Amino acid sequence: MHIAFIGLGNMGSGMAANLARAGHAVHAFDLSAEALARATAQGCTAAATAADAVKGADAIVTMLPAGHHVQSVLSQSILPMAAPGTLMLDCSTIDVETARGLAAQAEAAQLGFVDAPVSGGIAAADAGTLTFMVGGTPEAFAAAQPILAVMGKAIIHAGPAGSGQAAKICNNMLLGASMIATAEAFTLAQNLGLDPQTFFDISSKASGQCWSMTSYCPVPGPVPAAPSNRDYQGGFASALMLKDLKLAQAAADASNTPTPMGAQAEALYQTLAGMGGGALDFSAIIKLLNGSLGK
Ligand code: NAD
Repeated sequence: MHIAFIGLGNMGSGMAANLARAGHAVHAFDLSAEALARATAQGCTAAATAADAVKGADAIVTMLPAGHHVQSVLSQSILPMAAPGTLMLDCSTIDVETARGLAAQAEAAQLGFVDAPVSGGIAAADAGTLTFMVGGTPEAFAAAQPILAVMGKAIIHAGPAGSGQAAKICNNMLLGASMIATAEAFTLAQNLGLDPQTFFDISSKASGQCWSMTSYCPVPGPVPAAPSNRDYQGGFASALMLKDLKLAQAAADASNTPTPMGAQAEALYQTLAGMGGGALDFSAIIKLLNGSLGK
């Protein structure tokens, strides 16, 4: 297939590379020349503009920071250029209302659309083992499935347009809160004289066990691949976690759902970002708790 891929950042670069490796003709575009050069080195063809990437495409994947980026790419490059019947897969994490709006605009232009946000992080994007939560019609889901299968290990139809984003923000609200709780537990354990590795060995086999601990431990050592071992560089930026927590709080307000832990998680990530930690991986919340931020 001819696949346009727009947004080749931390996540998009690995995803586009996997599509190219599977034999698709991937026409890639990013505003960053560096990101574009990385994609071409991995088998993609560089497009001069997003519209150029979309021209003649069978499918279009977007992996952009926020809803307004996706809306502007849709308005400026996809709607004017995509042929009827083209499928758009938005894999970015954005708000439910914008996702539903994108679906309606795509449908009006006779384009297929799925919102297909991902879980799994950069390592899973590179390895092609992401989890996709997909919103859209059964027909659009069926068309998207084989493309998503190249980039992921689990592809789940969550319901109509917007449902993928609903699942994603609920998941990330849980992730943000569980990372803060994990970081608090390791900080307290250390202050009580426990060795972090020893506490990990115990808690990872006890009832405190969770993904934030066993796959993404906020202290260096127990999980070698975790960003804590690289001074919290790379990974999933705290600013993006804050974005997702804000989306969750907006959705909670709109649906009259009490989410006190989610609200507290948003406040703590806001503080981390305000103290200059927005570019650090989200496990750097431990630096806010143990007072090591900026040291
Ligand atoms: P990123 O900032 O690394 O990448 C985004 C890319 O989009 C950048 O390279 C930027 O130059 C490009 N871009 C922005 N506007 C553009 C435009 N108009 N046209 C073309 N390119 C444009 O972000 P990321 O970490 O790759 O995350 C992308 C999305 O995936 C976000 O919505 C994020 O919340 C979500 N996500 C990220 C992770 C993670 O671990 N990083 C995990 C799950 C979901």
